[in-house]
Amino acid sequence: MSDSEDSDGEAGLGNVNRAIMRPPGHSGKAKRGHLCFDASFETGNLGRVDLVNEFEYDLFLRPDTCNPRFRFWFNFTVENVKQDQRVIFNIVNMSKCRTLLSEGMTPLVKSSTRQKWQRIPKRYVFYHRSPYHRGNYILSFAFGFDEDEIFQFALTAPYSYSRLQSYLTNLECRLPKSNEFFHRELLAQSIQKRRLDLITIGQKPKSQEKQRVVAIMARVHPGETPASYICQGLMEILVSAHPLASILRENVVFKIVPMLNPDGVFVGNFRSSYMGFDLNRSWHLATPWCHPTIRAVLDMLLDIDKSDNFQLDLVLDLHAHTSLKGCFIYGNSYEDVYRFERHIVFPKILASLCDDYMSSNTMFNSDINKIGTSRRFLCSVLSERVNCYTFEVSVYGYSLKGSDITIPYTEESYVEEIWQEPFWSTTGQLV
Ligand SMILES: [Zn+2]
Repeated sequence: MSDSEDSDGEAGLGNVNRAIMRPPGHSGKAKRGHLCFDASFETGNLGRVDLVNEFEYDLFLRPDTCNPRFRFWFNFTVENVKQDQRVIFNIVNMSKCRTLLSEGMTPLVKSSTRQKWQRIPKRYVFYHRSPYHRGNYILSFAFGFDEDEIFQFALTAPYSYSRLQSYLTNLECRLPKSNEFFHRELLAQSIQKRRLDLITIGQKPKSQEKQRVVAIMARVHPGETPASYICQGLMEILVSAHPLASILRENVVFKIVPMLNPDGVFVGNFRSSYMGFDLNRSWHLATPWCHPTIRAVLDMLLDIDKSDNFQLDLVLDLHAHTSLKGCFIYGNSYEDVYRFERHIVFPKILASLCDDYMSSNTMFNSDINKIGTSRRFLCSVLSERVNCYTFEVSVYGYSLKGSDITIPYTEESYVEEIWQEPFWSTTGQLV
């Protein structure tokens, strides 16, 4: 990095902190066009910048905290740009090479006056093996700064811990205080003392029968931001005045944990918790000290499963996939044929109702290396009737059946994913 008194690459957990890139030999006040890189903000990730030449910059992602193996998510700003300045950015140390970047996915950009994320056009993005970077795969993209503004670049549309907190507070304020179907509580705190929120949506029972429970959780992997958009869309529909939403609230209690890894999300990790654990490989050894959030969810699910008042039916863990398109389910395989037949009903319903559902990506297995995932571990400790799944949605897009064209998802289409017809007919009947 070109050193200067106003560059500090070590601040903010190793993120660049307003690092100004000056040409070699330049001293004194930075001129316009000496780009200023910053990732020292919530969910930011960029570890180092090297100036290659006047036009080209090598960018190094900051590894997950306490886990250098994971480097894929990025989120940083660039300012002090000159009008019409053209640059090439090379992201040179990604830890995954087989991803949707080799199938047309491109980074997102927005600017101070254009706040909607847009994909950088494919013709300016190259994902390639670089002879100048020891033959590693690098992501190169050309970009022209058309205005003197602050530009922000990210792998997927960020969804921060603070954004979730604001959304939940807003949701509480919007619903009448007298409502009897929505409840927000603190289930536990993370290692860094952030909130693990539990949202309960459902009416009080009218009869003595056990209440059916569906548990939904998201963002165990911080870089998989689409999972948050889908979770928000789901909460939005469940509290709505739609006739089907009220039928659901009368018959089912939804227990929703929208952000399982608040610290990892806050610090801009790709996959790990603050202590460097992949929490979706840790369910079988979860302790209150090292994995307090998933431990709290596990204890809650065990309590519900044992309770005389509830019947837990379904556990759904929302993720986003970095190498496959569409949405799909990962489930378990069982030797008990009847149990397996019950288990494949939900994915079949999704396949018949969702245009973007990819049956070819759906998988049922019992691999030993997936033992610490929620779907594998929970199905071994909860009652046999409980079905546990991982729901995946692509970080990029989907293809309609019989077509090669990829339609990229957007923030809005992730949120609306579950609103789409034919799930909800105009009369509110499930079709
Ligand atoms: Zn994941």
